[in-house]
Amino acid sequence: MARVSVVGGGVIGLTTALELARAGHEVWCVRDLAVEDTVSRVAGGLWFPYHVEPRDLAVRWGLESLTAFTRIAATLPFETAGVRLATGVLVHRMEPDLWWTEGVDDVRSARPDELPPGSTRGTVATLPLIDTGRYLPWLERECASAGVEFAHDLVDGLDQVAGEGIVVACGLRSGTLTGDTELTPARGQVVRLANPGLTDWLVDGDDPDVLTYVLPHGDTVVCGGTDLEGDWGTVPDPDTERAILARCMAAVPALRGATVVGRAVGLRPVAPKVRLARHTRDRRTVVTNYGHGGAGVTLSWGCAAEVVRLLE
Ligand SMILES: Cc1cc2nc3c(=O)[nH]c(=O)nc-3n(C[C@H](O)[C@H](O)[C@H](O)COP(=O)(O)OP(=O)(O)OC[C@H]3O[C@@H](n4cnc5c(N)ncnc54)[C@H](O)[C@@H]3O)c2cc1C
Repeated sequence: MARVSVVGGGVIGLTTALELARAGHEVWCVRDLAVEDTVSRVAGGLWFPYHVEPRDLAVRWGLESLTAFTRIAATLPFETAGVRLATGVLVHRMEPDLWWTEGVDDVRSARPDELPPGSTRGTVATLPLIDTGRYLPWLERECASAGVEFAHDLVDGLDQVAGEGIVVACGLRSGTLTGDTELTPARGQVVRLANPGLTDWLVDGDDPDVLTYVLPHGDTVVCGGTDLEGDWGTVPDPDTERAILARCMAAVPALRGATVVGRAVGLRPVAPKVRLARHTRDRRTVVTNYGHGGAGVTLSWGCAAEVVRLLE
């Protein structure tokens, strides 16, 4: 058993802290933001390895996470953990690239009546859909039950952090602690609507400039989106919101007239490759776990398990 400090309390930091505590380590989780204010909270929450590299590891970590989310969905009510398995359609505008389906059981071609107006091809899949508004607070509670100690603090350098082991899980800001200059934001904007009764999801995302997705989570539906690399803007743009709503309502007419209940922008932490590696600094072990792009939720459990392996 070692004392390990995890810097970061988004989906990556919390899942890592939980897995380390469950593996018997003494864990501190330090973060400067409330979980409600993280990029992780903005995520649409579909298990889908979007805008992330490398693909072989995304498949491996993604499948480990798929198993974990499937178990949570089978054992805990949606109201408790916010996780359910949901069926939906991925619309194809180009030749489909189905690399992400490796190892995923429930995948088939869409029938014409399952596709939105104007589209001709798609893939239907049953995948974990995670309501981050419920899931992240549940993760925090699980961490606390497993013995993780929390601190609210801005960490300026790793020398400020105690422990034989340190995990850097600061998303887009991880470079300030590691010196990594290759992280870039990919701006995502979403609108939350009152759910008119949808249960199935839809993603039409072959062209990131006109990314469209509809992800129902109980009483709300997350409508998106954008994926603008290099854009640091964090304020929701009204024109972008109007365009998102028009695309989502065209794809899912049942959304017409639904009330807007919230809006948000998040900056996906994009790296050339997910930064999951072990280093030694001043005779201490530092494991990095950041740069998950548009797939932090999707890869969270697999990456957390990898951190545990690297620290052992
Ligand atoms: C619009 C949108 C939709 C998305 N949809 C999906 C989806 O459907 N499925 C999916 O898998 N992914 C999705 N993503 C991607 C996902 O949100 C990210 O990959 C994920 O949230 C990254 O998590 P993280 O924990 O690394 O970072 P964050 O959630 O940004 O957390 C970073 C943490 O580090 C802390 N921190 C940072 N610097 C410091 C410091 N110096 N000192 C102390 N604490 C610090 C912060 O307080 C915070 O707790 C989406 C993203 C966006 C923007």
